[in-house]
Amino acid sequence: MRHFAEGDLVSVLTTQPLDRLLDYKAPEGGCFQGAFVEVPLGPRKVLGVVWGDGEGGYDLAKVRSVIRVLDAVPMRDEMRQFLIRAAEYTLTPMPAMLRLATRSPGLGDPPAMRVIYRRGTVEEPDRWTPARQKVVAVLEDFGGLAFTLAELAEMAGVSTSVVKGLVKQGVVAEEESPRDLPYPRLDPTPRGDVALTEEQAHAARALRTGVAARQYGTALLKGVTGSGKTEVYLEAVAACLEAGRQALVLLPEIALTAEFLTRVEDRFGARPAEWHSGVTMTERRRAWKMVSENGAQLVVGARSALFLPYQDLGLIVVDEEHDTSYKQEDGVLYNARDMAVLRASMTGAQVVLASATPSLESWANADAGKYTRLTLTSRFGEAIMPEMRAIDMRAEALPANRWISDTLAGAVRHRLGEGEQSLLFLNRRGYAPVTICRACGHQIGCDHCDARMVEHRFQKRLMCHQCGETKPMPSVCPSCEAEDRLAPVGPGVERITEEVTSLFPEARTALLSSDLYGSARALKAQIEDIAAGGADIIIGTQIVAKGHNFPHLTLVGVIDADLGLQGSDLRAAERTFQLMRQVAGRAGRAEKPGVALMQTYQPEHPVIRAILSGEEEEFWRAEAAERKMAGVPPYGRMAGIVLSSPDVAEVFDFGKALAARTAPLHQIGAQVFGPAAAPIARIRGRHRVRLLVKAEKTAPLQRALAAWLGQFRVPTNLRVAVDIDPQSFY
Ligand code: ADP
Ligand code: ZN
Repeated sequence: MRHFAEGDLVSVLTTQPLDRLLDYKAPEGGCFQGAFVEVPLGPRKVLGVVWGDGEGGYDLAKVRSVIRVLDAVPMRDEMRQFLIRAAEYTLTPMPAMLRLATRSPGLGDPPAMRVIYRRGTVEEPDRWTPARQKVVAVLEDFGGLAFTLAELAEMAGVSTSVVKGLVKQGVVAEEESPRDLPYPRLDPTPRGDVALTEEQAHAARALRTGVAARQYGTALLKGVTGSGKTEVYLEAVAACLEAGRQALVLLPEIALTAEFLTRVEDRFGARPAEWHSGVTMTERRRAWKMVSENGAQLVVGARSALFLPYQDLGLIVVDEEHDTSYKQEDGVLYNARDMAVLRASMTGAQVVLASATPSLESWANADAGKYTRLTLTSRFGEAIMPEMRAIDMRAEALPANRWISDTLAGAVRHRLGEGEQSLLFLNRRGYAPVTICRACGHQIGCDHCDARMVEHRFQKRLMCHQCGETKPMPSVCPSCEAEDRLAPVGPGVERITEEVTSLFPEARTALLSSDLYGSARALKAQIEDIAAGGADIIIGTQIVAKGHNFPHLTLVGVIDADLGLQGSDLRAAERTFQLMRQVAGRAGRAEKPGVALMQTYQPEHPVIRAILSGEEEEFWRAEAAERKMAGVPPYGRMAGIVLSSPDVAEVFDFGKALAARTAPLHQIGAQVFGPAAAPIARIRGRHRVRLLVKAEKTAPLQRALAAWLGQFRVPTNLRVAVDIDPQSFY
């Protein structure tokens, strides 16, 4: 690693939104290339990384010095290259990439001791109070983790004096410890009690061989829910640990990590590092540090875990790789799946993309031979894929304001009699998507967005799903002031729950919707309760589709299988197919066979038919052929340009100016569509205009986009967001 001597001119990349590197003098003692440093910028001190030689050309006497080198392992060359390539790919300014890579609280803090609290040796206090029980429950829930006093008190929802009281009695132990401790070593030795099936063993061998080769490679691990994908990729993790390299497992949903961590603990004897928005600041800091210092062998996390400072990354698993939450939709617009492949290709690591319903992108790469295809065809043990049937809603003649057909209700009733669980799925939060005035026809909209307000009856509020704004449900129409004429139109999950309660008053119902849980912990607790049989009928949005295990569930009813097919999204068919197959896969995980019933007004629709028949390969081939014809991803390249500004005229003018000077795009044969008002034409008071750029697969799109956009000076209030391979078009 290069070392600069004191006084040498170095260039520093800072996290500040500047379009260039800044020159500084190396501090006393010098610094390494890649060192994390604090530098002066005007009157402020800012975080940066020593990037290389200073550019010079200034009055040297005026160049300021680096203030100090932070106590962190310098950024490795490979990481710098990764950030550069990721920035080029996503057309993101480097300071924003660096912010992604330094999301560690207290990065600049000196190494220090701190007081931590963990479970003590005394089992029981003199007397159990509810507050004391809560403290002990938090410590036991989180295994060996230690907390600071403030963290522990907050997580338990008690005052710090409760914790101190338990310390006095030895139930909680108080210790001095270095601020950041290494994670316990994981033991990759095979566990005796699991014998992989032949198919599983074949896939595991292929992955192990890949990891042992220490070369880049990507495998698409495809298998229905319950076929043992997790079991198989844990073998790849084991191989990676044996090789002494680090592994990363990405999960699409925080609520899934709890279940997965338990499996890691069962398999490797300890818990790995966790990285997502639900972990405490202290743990985030520890994870970031330990990943860079050989103190963390395995990280389980959300997409941003890709930007941690690994020393030697040997494996990245992207579980549920088709999941749309891997695409970050604000700030840096990147797809974690693509960035995983990029990062792995630069460090000689293996990627495992696991899914029951892969994205068409990954399917096409496997089809073209770029990815190894590993398939698990059957469910483990007794469990078989559920039988799938359509309920033709045209024949059901439902009365107004009812959404559960007699056929579906009959099936639910049957499960109730058998003591089995049913799940009713509707991908719509809230009570009703539209609130209309029966007197004047006015629909209640958001004041800041071009969107309707959604009624959330449990919270007694209207909510905008674009900006999150809420207001109380009015009793008079905001337009004509008629009293008591506002009426809900259409169903959300809360309204389905109401219908379920009136149809089955004796049943225990549980509603799973992301907005109803204050924390990932509360959601996890609810999921565990359901899994243990704590509900007869579950009503849920798409959060139920993601990998949770409900062993007593034998019926899945889809309230509106047509919902995702509306709209112009090019992935509408793919998404509906994936979501319906995922949801159906929730049924019949244990010994009892499952059934999935889909309510649809168009049972002949090709996508609905493909879902029912389970002819997946046929579906993918048909979908691939259509995309090829249209020249859209993955067979062509696309970039979405979203302009937004509080000034509607300005945003349209700028859009027209962009569309008028497209020479750099035409040079690579790209086409430009728009400007046009975005489908949601206003969000948070900003007017939105879209352009779409389409190019052939091999065209150097990013370079052309940069040249094109570089021709313009962007007005101060206007934002330009470039979205390469857009996943959403709102
Ligand atoms: P997937 O990730 O494909 O949904 P999992 O790996 O979670 O599948 O497997 C589903 C269930 O079956 C889990 O409880 C898992 O422990 C169990 N299982 C899978 N394969 C085996 C095996 N070979 N031996 C024992 N249990 C297995
Ligand atoms: Zn809004």
